Amino acid sequence: MKRICVNCGSSPGFDSVHMATARRLGEELLARGCELVYGGSDVGLMGEVADTVLAGGGTVHGVIPRLLAEKVAHRGPVELHVVESMHERKTLMADLSDAFVGLPGGFGTLEEIAELLTWNQLGIMAKPVGLLDVDGYYEHLLAFLDNAVAGGFMKQEHRDMVLVARDPADLLDQAAAWHAPTSAKWVGLKRSSRPSP
Ligand code: AMP
Repeated sequence: MKRICVNCGSSPGFDSVHMATARRLGEELLARGCELVYGGSDVGLMGEVADTVLAGGGTVHGVIPRLLAEKVAHRGPVELHVVESMHERKTLMADLSDAFVGLPGGFGTLEEIAELLTWNQLGIMAKPVGLLDVDGYYEHLLAFLDNAVAGGFMKQEHRDMVLVARDPADLLDQAAAWHAPTSAKWVGLKRSSRPSP
């Protein structure tokens, strides 16, 4: 795995453990000689992971929409790709990366991770996606996914695509060993018999 995409909060979070985790992840990327792909800004956990990789002499690719670039683009030696929309951003980040790691974040992080898993589930993409679940930050999201399986809205095999670890090295090891699921997306599919108009 050459390039790892990190999806994470544009805020630092209240608990300093999250900024520390961002630094630990940056250090692990450096130790493995991996390049970072991320959202290209200098704020919150995003800025922290980028600064750590840059400080260690690593390569950082930032992908940012023009509107955000004017406000929060990283001003360091980041290989900055300025794109026109959030959709273009996510597509380019996915194309550039071999695996994806989610740190704590809000809507932006959740949306990016969910979209990647959806692409894997539909077979549009086949790349590992994991969460760094420090201090139980993602506990409720993981419980939601178990509930979706129990309710017949998600296959266990697709639920299991979400790699989880507390430690960056463990998560990257899991990502390196990951195999894409083989079963089709739909659970108990029964198609409507209504004719199309
Ligand atoms: P959030 O988790 O809501 O803070 O959103 C973080 C994710 O959404 C990042 O991975 C970015 O791709 C995107 N994003 C949201 N806010 C910003 C911002 N101020 N600067 C750059 N990217 C952002």
